[in-house]
Amino acid sequence: MPEILVRNADVLVTMDGTRREIAGGDLLMRDGVIVAVGQGLTTSGMIVEARGCVVTPGLVNTHHHLYQTLTRVVPGGQDALLFGWLKTLYPIWARFGPEEMFVSARIGLAELALSGCTLTSDHLYLYPNGARLDDTIAAAQEVGLRFHPTRGAMSIGESAGGLPPDSLVEREAAILEDSIRVVDAFHDPREGAMVRVGLAPCSPFSVSRDLMREAAVLARDKGVMLHTHLAENDEDIAYSLAQFGCRPGQYAEDLGWTGPDVWHAHCVKLDGDEIGLFARSATGVAHCPCSNCRLGSGIAPVRAMRDAGVKVGLGVDGSASNDAGNLVAEARQALLLQRVARGADAMSAREALEIATLGGAKVLGRGDCGSLEPGKRADLAIWDMRGIEAAGAWDPVAALMLCGPTRVRDLFVEGRQVVRDGQMATLDLPRAIEQQNRLARRLAGL
Ligand SMILES: [Zn+2]
Repeated sequence: MPEILVRNADVLVTMDGTRREIAGGDLLMRDGVIVAVGQGLTTSGMIVEARGCVVTPGLVNTHHHLYQTLTRVVPGGQDALLFGWLKTLYPIWARFGPEEMFVSARIGLAELALSGCTLTSDHLYLYPNGARLDDTIAAAQEVGLRFHPTRGAMSIGESAGGLPPDSLVEREAAILEDSIRVVDAFHDPREGAMVRVGLAPCSPFSVSRDLMREAAVLARDKGVMLHTHLAENDEDIAYSLAQFGCRPGQYAEDLGWTGPDVWHAHCVKLDGDEIGLFARSATGVAHCPCSNCRLGSGIAPVRAMRDAGVKVGLGVDGSASNDAGNLVAEARQALLLQRVARGADAMSAREALEIATLGGAKVLGRGDCGSLEPGKRADLAIWDMRGIEAAGAWDPVAALMLCGPTRVRDLFVEGRQVVRDGQMATLDLPRAIEQQNRLARRLAGL
């Protein structure tokens, strides 16, 4: 792969140890790796002019359900709380198959790419009609994003006191067997990996305590990460107290679900003790501010988590509860939501950008991503600040969080161009959208 020099950025935001911002910044990449950042760099390879632009590390999305791009704004679920929302959507999701998983993931991944995301996880916890994790991995390979799919699962159906219909749950032995299959087939532990698999039983209210425990044992045996939903709203806390006789933090700790190899989505309702537990154990959090607003779940105590030293990344969450998948807009929402709770100095624009980049990389265990430094992977976003959104802005880095743009000009992942001049470089996007809409109409019975 030839060298690529990104040249003359108005500001190059490194997110390195000193949070250096380089005016007139250049970045040189070769073979998927950053080889230099600074000023006045040269190359005999390809040159990308970045005058008028801010260059940042690629944004990192730590929680998504890509398949849900096919069920955005479903009428019965638009105004419901979490449990009611799930019950509206489960029967629709039960009609998905491999094609729906592939097409919806491709749309969700492209949407993330256009909003500056270079690395995303995905939480796929239902496998109806022959759908497999493989379908979403194929989509990520086509789009070109770095991908951390998680093998999710539900095993307690309605007849056993769980929330999902019996048709969407799997036997626990089959879940563990398929988890081993996908880890062995796709997980790459090496630096620069494009695919890393995690294990992710859906939530405490849809799997058994045994499966949670066994998944943790299996994940450690295989050296992969663990992910689930935790403490999302008041109903979730009430369920935990009623069913398990303890709060979610205690439940997680008892089952081996804390540690540097674990990250939990939402954590809106964590109390002070649970925040302390997560900080001590280096357990990560995927903060999903838009979804928390959309479902009326509450405001996650991100300020308190960060102050205690908890690793926090951002998640757009599934597109049935956001229903956008724009990661840079999510960073803005994270900033605004902390300010609603804690005042105007609760989170700065630069801290929001840090959470969206370096913070997410730490949550996903990617020491090789999240900052623009020699030796790190060449994952970067180039934002054109000359458009109307930021016209008149005095501070281009803060403008990216507080004004826009909300769409990236160029995006590189592992040194490969995924977005060029605001368009997908890896994909016929209009055609992908047409396929997606056709499937959505079919699901709606139109
Ligand atoms: Zn979720």
